[in-house]
Amino acid sequence: MPTCDLRLTNATILTMDAAFSVWERSGLAITADTIVAVGDDAAGYVAAETVDCGGRILMPGLINAHTHVPMTLLRGLADDLRLDVWLMGYVMPVEREFVSPDFVRLGTGLACAEMIRSGITCFADMYYFEEAVAEATAAAGMRAVCGQTVLKFPSPDAGSFEDSLEYARDFIARWKGHPLVVPAPAPHAPYTCTADILRSCAELAVEFDVPLHTHLSETLFEVEQWRKAYGMPVVPWVKKQGLLDAHVLAAHCVHIDEGEMRTLRNARAGVAHNPSSNLKLGSGVAPVTKMLDAGLAVGIGTDGPASNNDLDMFEEVRLAALLAKGTSGDPTALPARDALLMATRMGAQALHLADLTGSIEPGKRADLILLDPGPLHNLPHFSREPLAIYSRIVYAAKSTDVTDVMCNGRWLMRGQRLLTLDETALADAARDYAKRIDAFLMHREESILRKLVAIGGAVEEESFEVQVKARVPSAEPVLAALSSDEIAVIKSKRYHQYDTYFVFEDSSHGRLRYREDEFLDEQGRVTGFRARLTLTGQAREAEFGSVLLFRSRYLAPATHSRRFYREYFKPVDEIEVDKERRRWLVAYKGVEFYVHLDRLKNPPDPGFFVEVKSRTWSRRDAQDKAAIITELMRLLGADADSTIRDGYVDLVS
Ligand SMILES: [Zn+2]
Repeated sequence: MPTCDLRLTNATILTMDAAFSVWERSGLAITADTIVAVGDDAAGYVAAETVDCGGRILMPGLINAHTHVPMTLLRGLADDLRLDVWLMGYVMPVEREFVSPDFVRLGTGLACAEMIRSGITCFADMYYFEEAVAEATAAAGMRAVCGQTVLKFPSPDAGSFEDSLEYARDFIARWKGHPLVVPAPAPHAPYTCTADILRSCAELAVEFDVPLHTHLSETLFEVEQWRKAYGMPVVPWVKKQGLLDAHVLAAHCVHIDEGEMRTLRNARAGVAHNPSSNLKLGSGVAPVTKMLDAGLAVGIGTDGPASNNDLDMFEEVRLAALLAKGTSGDPTALPARDALLMATRMGAQALHLADLTGSIEPGKRADLILLDPGPLHNLPHFSREPLAIYSRIVYAAKSTDVTDVMCNGRWLMRGQRLLTLDETALADAARDYAKRIDAFLMHREESILRKLVAIGGAVEEESFEVQVKARVPSAEPVLAALSSDEIAVIKSKRYHQYDTYFVFEDSSHGRLRYREDEFLDEQGRVTGFRARLTLTGQAREAEFGSVLLFRSRYLAPATHSRRFYREYFKPVDEIEVDKERRRWLVAYKGVEFYVHLDRLKNPPDPGFFVEVKSRTWSRRDAQDKAAIITELMRLLGADADSTIRDGYVDLVS
């Protein structure tokens, strides 16, 4: 009689093999990390140890095809926000401050505990300090494709793209051939990488013969941007960069067309479908049925716990099946068995691990779970229809029905008790991180300036300025004065200014002005565009007659949209002011001043406004300039009693 290390008996075995064989009251034989016999063949084995499965369902461990496991520590940090506000406003600033090998190790431990409990034995990850993810995963006994993130901007683990590529190379060289962990490069996405980065990552993956993990076509915005910039959607563009030379695992693919599906299939790329995350972030629903029809290997993933917010594959599989029906109006779309296939054997194929895991077959690693079919929500059981067992699992079973989990021949959970992880210690450490992250964000949220600095790009500069503003009935006297010999015009500009003032409850924060400048030529045609953000915490330092001395403003180029800033800063009110501005840099009595001649468009105003201002460095200098400004204003036709004490906001509100 043949021998083996372990026999599992008395189980209903869902093999998920090519024939979808199911064995009733049967067993399997395992030696070391490998399944050696299944069903009737296993009965003849003499085992060192035999475990009676008590009539439970034995099936392949589930495969989470796309996630960012350390982000368990950011779960629930900021929700119900748009993708850019969530990512740029909250997640990335917190990551810059907190992500370290320690953070990553702890987050991975938490995630592994949660995933084992929900019957997952294998996952595809993408994060920073991926070596620490790999270490924690191996310690927990789980299988994973661990993707080291590569980005075009500095990240928590690399100052530059060259650094992160070097880190990825090192990591891959050291972990290649590990029994549980498959290392991989993970260029984050086309819009966060350059063509060079994508090419280098693909070359690295090919050189070491490892998969490559990335995000593709997650949002319609991304695809539209690509069409505008390159005249093609994302998939053909990444193919041009050589990305598809590697064994790609592409997360999302929510917005790809049938041509792109064929391109991915021909490149033998795998796709990870992330229904919860795509719904939660409002990205849409991936065309799963079409992808399957095109012959693509599509797995199912939870995505990171900051955008899901859990790592429950039972929920994910059920949602995948329901969405395919709901969006097509066809209840026969994506039947239960096919949905479960995506979470097992086809998921393994998408991860390029099909020879190792994903089904219960001789020669594959012993990655399996036991499910208790007994809880009320699974009852009763019908045996007339052979597919009923799949629909019970997909539509009714819950992750809490998982009682036992084995990965690579090693038990990770027995009778719902975790064997490789200390849940209490993990939970305590996670609570501690949450406290520190809360404190960091609360401190930041107290100040508009700190929030501005947190999203990057804010140039903090203190400045002093003398200025005066006056209403004038017409432009002619101003223009006449500027063409006189007394005032030397150094340069001039015209533009349309669209200002939005964000007003905050606590007025001591100042006001945040989002300004879009459209530069105009002499004929009034638009020649350029600029967007800037100015925090005017304007404090009036002194007054010299009608001339005022102001201090402090913080300038930043506005790299996001007005909508982004509105959702990020949450002002209590907004005031819009649109105007046509002519601006001159002039010299008068040996001093340089800016002269503005404004005409308000919104709110409309028949008059004109003249403003004269100059940078200043000392009180003495301010006083001297104030005297000259007063003269200059008279010359421009603005007398002292037409001056205005406040800016446009106060004027129009
Ligand atoms: Zn993701």
